[in-house]
This record gives sequence, C-alpha cells and structure tokens, in this order.
Amino acid sequence: MGHDTDQTQPLPRRTPDAATRRDQAVRAAVEQGLVGPATPVAGLLDVTGIRASAAALHAAFDAVTAPGTPVLHAFAVKATPLVPVLRLLREAGIGAEVASPGELALARAAGMPPARTVLDSPAKTPAELREALALGIAVNADNPEELARLDALVASAPTRSPLGVRVNPQTGAGSIGALSTATATSKFGVALRDPGARAWLVRAYLDRPWLTRLHTHSGSQGVPLERMAEGVRTVHELAEEINAAAGRRQVDTLDIGGGLPVNFGSDEETPTYAAYARLLAATVPGLFDGSYGLVTEFGRSLTAKHGTTLALVEYAKEAGGRPIAVTHAGVQVATRTVYAPASWPLRIAAYDAKGLPKSGPLVAQDVAGPACFAGDLLAENQELPLLAAGDHAAALDTGAYYFAQHYSYNSLARPGIYGYTTEPEGTVRFATVRAPQPVEEIVAEAGGPQRDSLTEL
Ligand SMILES: *Cc1c(COP(=O)(O)O)cnc(C)c1O
Repeated sequence: MGHDTDQTQPLPRRTPDAATRRDQAVRAAVEQGLVGPATPVAGLLDVTGIRASAAALHAAFDAVTAPGTPVLHAFAVKATPLVPVLRLLREAGIGAEVASPGELALARAAGMPPARTVLDSPAKTPAELREALALGIAVNADNPEELARLDALVASAPTRSPLGVRVNPQTGAGSIGALSTATATSKFGVALRDPGARAWLVRAYLDRPWLTRLHTHSGSQGVPLERMAEGVRTVHELAEEINAAAGRRQVDTLDIGGGLPVNFGSDEETPTYAAYARLLAATVPGLFDGSYGLVTEFGRSLTAKHGTTLALVEYAKEAGGRPIAVTHAGVQVATRTVYAPASWPLRIAAYDAKGLPKSGPLVAQDVAGPACFAGDLLAENQELPLLAAGDHAAALDTGAYYFAQHYSYNSLARPGIYGYTTEPEGTVRFATVRAPQPVEEIVAEAGGPQRDSLTEL
C-alpha cells in the first residue's frame, strides 16, 4: 500500500503549467504571424488560466460558506472589458460588475443575465438608473443624492432590482494612492466614520424597506488583505446594527467588492482566493454562516496573470552605454506602467525571432515602446538576454488593465487580442477576441467623416 507506483502504468498526461503554455503560445503566435511586421504587437490570453482562476474563486468561497448560501461572483468588467472574456467567465459561473453604460452593454452582449449583474458607478445618470431598475439589475447607490433618485424611481415603478448603498469603511490607504478606495477622503460611497454618517445610514435603511444590501470595495493593488478584511468586517457590523434596529433581516446580502492584489513579481498566483476567504472567515466570523447572501466583485485577480503582451523588437540600439530594445508595445498598451513605473513594474520575457525563449547572459537594458516621448518604456534597466532586432519582447501579467485598456497616444492602433489553449504535446489553438484595428478606423474615429466641418463653419 502507500505510494508505491506501478511502473507499468502510463504516466497521466499533465496539463502544462502557465509558463509552459505561454511559451507555446508565443512560439505559435510568431509562427502563425499573429505578431509580425504587419501587426507588430498583440495581446494573448490563456483561456485555461482564466478558467482555473474562476474555478479557484468558486472553490475558495464554497469551502467557507454555509451550504445553501447564495453567492454571486461578479467580474469587474473594467479589468478586462472584452465580450468573449465575459462570455468565458459567464460559462464559468461568473457574473458581471459594471460601472458605465458601455460596460453594461458589454455584459449584455456577452449574455450576462440581469440577475447576475451589479451596477456600481459613482456617477450614474437618471437614465442609467432607470434602465438598471427596468432590467432588474442590482444597484448600489453611491451617495445620498443618488438614493433620492432611487426613491423617485422605486415609487414610480415596481422593480426586481436588489438595492443597496456603498459604504466607505475609511479603513485607510494601500501603497498606491490612486487605487486606494477606502481612505478618509475617498470619492466612493458614504464615508462611514464621518460625523453623523452611521446614524444617517441606519435611518436611511429603516425608512426604505427596499434597501436590502450593503456594499463595500476596499481593496485594490497595493492594499494588504488584512485591511480589506477589516473593511468587510466594518460593513458586516453595520448590517447587523441595521437589522437589529429594523427588528428583521432587512439587509440580506453583503457585496464585499473585489480588489485582491496580483503578484507581478513571478509566475506564482498569490495571494490566493483561498487565503483571502480563510482570512475573511477568521476576521468576520458571521460572514459565511448563511445569514447573508454574498456578492464579490473581483477583477484583476481573475485575469491579470493570464495575459501576455507580445511585441516585435523593431530595432536594438545603445545610448549612454545603455542597450535599448525599441519595441511596438509602450504607453498605448501599458499606460499605467509607463506613467507610474514605480507602482506598476512589469516582468519582460525575451523571445527570439522564431518565438523561442532567448537564453544567454543577462544584460541590463531598456525595453522601449513606439510612442514619441522619452518616458515610453515598458521596463528600465531590466536584466534580460540581450534583445536584437527581429526578436520579441513579452510583457507578462498584462491580462487586466493593460492591452484591453487601449490609450490612443500617437494614434497607435489597438492591437489584436487572441485567446489560446494548448495541448500537452505543444499544439496551440487561437481564437480572435478582438481583431487588430485597421488604420481606416483610426481615421474614422479621429473625425475623418467630418473632414470639412471646421473649415466650413
Ligand atoms: C475596480 C472595482 C472592482 C475590481 O477591482 P480589482 O482590483 O480589479 O479586483 C470591484 N468593485 C468596484 C466597485 C470597482 O470599482
């Protein structure tokens, strides 16, 4: 008994790991010309990896919630606003968190049912609110003025929309100021620790029996998990207080937001959903006991690790003793990294002209983009095998908030995006998620059809 293996049994076929799948996909993308002289940059999405992250999210919460607890995992569409990705996630049992008319339209185009969609923007117009309530989409009001708009809508027509209020637990900032949603002066939600706010909120719920949810989103890249869990604890306490005051379980669902950070330093997927779920269970014991339904809104953690930006090296040069690889991926696909490199460093992987991993001594070099300003660098002084013209540079972990968030500086085209799956023996299958943008479309979007509008004014 025990772990003696029968050597005559064939070994089980192992699914290649994420780094192996990526190498296979890069090679196939180069061989098949997805990246080449005509289309020198593309985004690649690892479908197997996205499915695995969705399964890990379900498993992590299933492991800690009381049986029968309704749990909706709604993907924050802004992280990867691509219809086929939303469709893939829908098939994996994931809903959608939307924050604009465009994001809602993407979710609907992907076939997301209204009952699995949540609307959260801080600046919803009356028309957006009316549409959401007509569709039965869950809405979290951001502030007292928005709540007053909901009052009018709820009074004017019946709705199936579950309604709640977003609360800022004011638990403090993380390491990236622009992404810290729970500071004392954050623009999001009702600031819970401001004088009078707590009493106002309790009263607001007692006055509105249709308010059945509480929402917070206190995490993000750079926010420690303990602080996120603290934010959730604060909101759970508030729900208990409201329900005690109401004498019934008026608040029946807690929307705990997203914000699990992503490890950009290696291929390891940490922190895990399982670790966060366990921390939540320890910090907020009542959260998973079945007295509340749950909504989560994870974005980056579902897709970031599964995206690769692959770019052709057009030229290799040297300046002031520093080797510089001039590639076709820069500010248009890696806006955050280019403008805030200290907060958003990216790992670059070097591949040769055939798309094979490059070896050789590591040389500190700059990996530059194609845009016409000096700061357009994907990486500065990063140690890599020396890149040459015709090689390929891959920016890793760019599946969220990178190539899907095009920035049209220098009228650079939106690159094609392709999903891939791989077989253990190396066969790679691609599917187009978004076709590369043709130059005619750039002209049309830049007012081409209105060429004479100003001269004729
Ligand atoms: C951006 C956002 C999310 C997702 O954040 P991630 O850091 O990508 O997980 C969730 N909820 C709201 C309200 C958001 O604005």
